[in-house]
Amino acid sequence: MKPAHKTIETIFLDEIDFSYAASLKKNINAEDFFGFPTKAIVQTELNLHDIQQRKVAYFSMEFGLTPSFYNTFKTKIPLNPINKKQDFTVFSNMRSMDYFHSVKLDSLVDLPIYSGGLGVLAGDTLKSVADSRFPFLGVGILWNKGYLLQKACYHFGQESAGFIWEPKHYPGLIPLKNRVELYIGKERVSLRLWKYYIFSQDRRHVVPLILLDSNVAENSPGGRTLTDRLYNSKSEWWRIVQRKILGVGGVRAIQSLGYKVDIYHLNEGHAAFAFVEIARREPADRWEEIKRRFAYTCHTPVAAGHDRLPVSELKYVLDNRELEISQQLGTEQGNSKAVNLTLLALNAAHKANAVSEKHEKVTKIQFPDHVKKIRGITNGIHHLTWVSDSMAELFDRYKKEFGAWREDPEQLRNILNLSSDKQFKTELWEAHQANKRDLVKWLSPWLLQENVFTIAWARRAASYKRPELILYDVKRLEEIARRVGPLQIIFAGKAHPKDMAGANSIKGILEKIDSLSGKRDYIKVLYLEDYDTHVGKKLVCGVDAWLNNPLPPFEASGTSGMKAILNGVPQLSTRDGWIAEAGENIGTIFGYVAEKGELGKETNFHIEEDARSLYTALDEMVQLYKEAVAGGESFLHGRWVNMMIHCIAGAGFFNTHRMVNSYNRFVWQLTPLP
Ligand SMILES: *Cc1c(COP(=O)(O)O)cnc(C)c1O
Repeated sequence: MKPAHKTIETIFLDEIDFSYAASLKKNINAEDFFGFPTKAIVQTELNLHDIQQRKVAYFSMEFGLTPSFYNTFKTKIPLNPINKKQDFTVFSNMRSMDYFHSVKLDSLVDLPIYSGGLGVLAGDTLKSVADSRFPFLGVGILWNKGYLLQKACYHFGQESAGFIWEPKHYPGLIPLKNRVELYIGKERVSLRLWKYYIFSQDRRHVVPLILLDSNVAENSPGGRTLTDRLYNSKSEWWRIVQRKILGVGGVRAIQSLGYKVDIYHLNEGHAAFAFVEIARREPADRWEEIKRRFAYTCHTPVAAGHDRLPVSELKYVLDNRELEISQQLGTEQGNSKAVNLTLLALNAAHKANAVSEKHEKVTKIQFPDHVKKIRGITNGIHHLTWVSDSMAELFDRYKKEFGAWREDPEQLRNILNLSSDKQFKTELWEAHQANKRDLVKWLSPWLLQENVFTIAWARRAASYKRPELILYDVKRLEEIARRVGPLQIIFAGKAHPKDMAGANSIKGILEKIDSLSGKRDYIKVLYLEDYDTHVGKKLVCGVDAWLNNPLPPFEASGTSGMKAILNGVPQLSTRDGWIAEAGENIGTIFGYVAEKGELGKETNFHIEEDARSLYTALDEMVQLYKEAVAGGESFLHGRWVNMMIHCIAGAGFFNTHRMVNSYNRFVWQLTPLP
């Protein structure tokens, strides 16, 4: 049933606030939306406004979309320089290069509304949802000052500079006329709504992402800054305010835009106040019914990682009724002074999921009262976003095995049928080498070698991920490089601005790099500033092996390694998160495994013993790589190419197409649109 009064104009063009961003008119008309078909938007919006259509709203504090390399909108006016990725510095043990060169990019900065893995997962989820043609909305916040711009320096580590961009001129981002209002304590705050459309790969379907923004003229100067910085951690008050804007503001935004949503999906506990906003309008005996419309994904594997908001501060943000409901559902036994958002979300949702099999076990141990509603659905990555051109071309050439791998990534498993095809193996190696040459060229001042073993560690510099593990004993590393073969090691990753331990790790890495300055003939170590999805893509495609050494069981899933296996890049990893269910053939697994009952209580970081087993594993890996690089029979029958094949086969499972299908069976129960 399509409401008759809704036409193209009222549904789409009429919603846009052209007076706020006049230049949009140049890029949007009834046929063309920044180089994409406007028709797909109008058709999907019509379907989403159909009240009969079952649909989901997916709430997340962050969304990592990657418009610099996937779903890139075209613009008829020159890109505003403020929205380009800034040049960044490289810190290496070849300091003279660092002084004279930086990495120059002439590319759009990726929409700066994410900090790391949680956001990238949310972005990849929306892309796979679009490809699956599910009726779906995303709800998030427009962070006017992004997350942080990382600057690093020797002896100091990381400095988090302010990030600046201009939403009005960002291709594809559209301000709407609609406003929603809410109270932060006694102050009334108005929120502008924005939309950003995620197109399916065939460009025939979209998922609208609704973004909330407090930077409007009618707010007080303080009110305008509430949606400035993602995870602004100046105080508890800020954390609560940002969560209220997402949860309460999000529900009101959906209503103000005329959508009727069936399932509210909370990606992390951050959005738990969405339940409070809906429940407050209903008598408590209807809450069970409301809960059936809530689902929750928990990403936090340790008790200490859950959001606990002090009641003494909640009072200044929530009204009495909101506080009452929050306490009713979110008070932990023995701690009436705080509201635990994980508990609130678990109590509000009728179904909850952990993000890997292993994380499912950990979560059930932590929340024994909720075991029945918890299920593990392993994370994934959007294969079309993270696959390199050279691998995509290879898959296309071997049509018989890979078939329609773009629509159905499970087909990637058929690579196993090519395990003894020498021609294929040679082409696979060549596709990898092409990616590696791209990386070498991108970082050309640092003179990386195409045939030298290259490994990357790139992720958030959180303590449990143990950033500097591979540099624990540089003497040992030198010894391996001299005896087995030379090494190139690339680091990237930001620390959360409040995470002193993380910042210290970066400082430590830089110091170790400096200490290797005389050794660059056989060992090169680089630290790339300002890690983001753009840099991430270059690394996951171009290196020979992907290093992942979190302390089990703290990594709920992890996803960067999944991006690497899709490109045939083997893992050097501890057994944690997704790796625990990926099997042995995708690389070398090493290190400490948590004992039963010890889960999440570790105080010992096992640095020394795990560094030792990392070196043993690395030694073996460099050996295998050397055989592969030598080519001929030792390559064709060696273990390396076999690992590459098993990696790509694994990507048939570790992708968001498979993941959203599981979500759909377990919670959403959506019917794809025609
Ligand atoms: C994929 C990705 C992550 C997630 O990495 P983990 O493996 O989960 O640590 C973080 N940041 C960026 C920029 C990414 O692209």
